[in-house]
Amino acid sequence: MKGLLIKNALVVSETGEAVQDVLSEGERIKLIGKELRPADSECEVIDAEGKILIPGGVDVHTHMNLDVGSAVASDDFYTGTVAAAWGGTTTIVDHPGFGPANCAIDHQIKKYHGLAEGKAVIDYSFHGVIQHVDDSILDGMSALIDQGISSFKIYLTYGFKIPDGDVYRVLERAKALGAMITVHPENDGVIQQLRDRFVKEGRLSPHYHPLSRPAECEAEAVNRMILFAHMAGDAPLYIVHLSNALGLSFIKSARDRGQKNLYAETCPQYLFLDDSLYDGPGNEGLKYIMCPPLRKKADQEMLWKGLAADINTVATDHCPFFFETQKILGKDDFTKCPSGAPGVEERIPLLFSEGVMKKRITLRRFTDLCSANPAKLFGMYPQKGVIKEGSDADMVIIHPKKKRVLQKSNLHANVDYSAYEGMEVTGLPEYVISRGEVILRDRQFSATAGRGKFIKRNTAPSCRSFLPQP
Ligand code: MN
Repeated sequence: MKGLLIKNALVVSETGEAVQDVLSEGERIKLIGKELRPADSECEVIDAEGKILIPGGVDVHTHMNLDVGSAVASDDFYTGTVAAAWGGTTTIVDHPGFGPANCAIDHQIKKYHGLAEGKAVIDYSFHGVIQHVDDSILDGMSALIDQGISSFKIYLTYGFKIPDGDVYRVLERAKALGAMITVHPENDGVIQQLRDRFVKEGRLSPHYHPLSRPAECEAEAVNRMILFAHMAGDAPLYIVHLSNALGLSFIKSARDRGQKNLYAETCPQYLFLDDSLYDGPGNEGLKYIMCPPLRKKADQEMLWKGLAADINTVATDHCPFFFETQKILGKDDFTKCPSGAPGVEERIPLLFSEGVMKKRITLRRFTDLCSANPAKLFGMYPQKGVIKEGSDADMVIIHPKKKRVLQKSNLHANVDYSAYEGMEVTGLPEYVISRGEVILRDRQFSATAGRGKFIKRNTAPSCRSFLPQP
């Protein structure tokens, strides 16, 4: 592959921000410096004066092809990674859905390799999923780690929720192996009571969705997981899609008590949208049915504050369903609506525009949240998440002044709406480079299906040690 020289960009690197040139050769970054020259006549030169060069986005929470029983998420590993790439994301780590009852721990990983191969246009990996616990599952964790799957997801709600004793066993094993446990924390018992009650009483509009899954249910489960992880020797624990202020306060107080290896992710929907959207006209509220639900404005404010230090990553939980044919299954009963919403393309433009441009987070914090921290936490650093000599040449050139209104017609997920329809953002990914290949050039897309590679991830206590312990 020919070389690529990006000239005069404001480069966001670990050592700070400076106007520099970045030369890549083949798939890797070769040199960062001033007044670099193209390696040879084949080398492509992009003048990025006045623009910002950030590491390619790393989204560690997507759900391509997710099968929820009543519906299958509408993006596959082709359309979903195309949308991700347009939005400046060059690596995803997907959370597979559940397999059949009692299946082996590698059942879904094998299936998802099949779903992604030949389709993905950017690099990808998968989290393992633990849907029941016995000795063969616990022993199977090491085998998956050897295959590059160094993190595992457990659920405290839904059909394959894990009971407390088994959660504890998983955490103990994860601690011994250096694996990261990611958790969907919601108190299943109370949610079931509330849902059953609303259904019985005929309270079936989207308005009742957030009321059936209160913030306290999430916060209780967050705190339970934190305490279990502590009892398991501060096992590595990663709270996915944190949506509420009370849960965040539990994370902060655990860290104040000295708990290590505790991390939290939030998502754009919890930073930009709130629960008033469930009362929108017609069936509009169904577009926002997701778990956890959208919360109050006060929660949003605390999450924004948390982005400065307490929250480690922003991922998307991208899980699109067509409004007209899939979300609409919930029109007479919100419990029948497939849960999830699109967002993989909107993440970086939203955070850059409303975070960096509005000075709520620094440029460096933005790249930490969207690229470096997820790469470090999930064993991909320094191959991914950083602009550094020797790292993969995954980079995004952002034009910091260009404005765009987010709308279905200029987005690329295979779905018929955006949760952020009509929002104006400043700053557009103009060029996206994945392992040295320019796949978005001046907003022209050119990546072939299947060019994305599976990334073997490290257990990487060594990777995680790069992160400051809160
Ligand atoms: Mn999810």
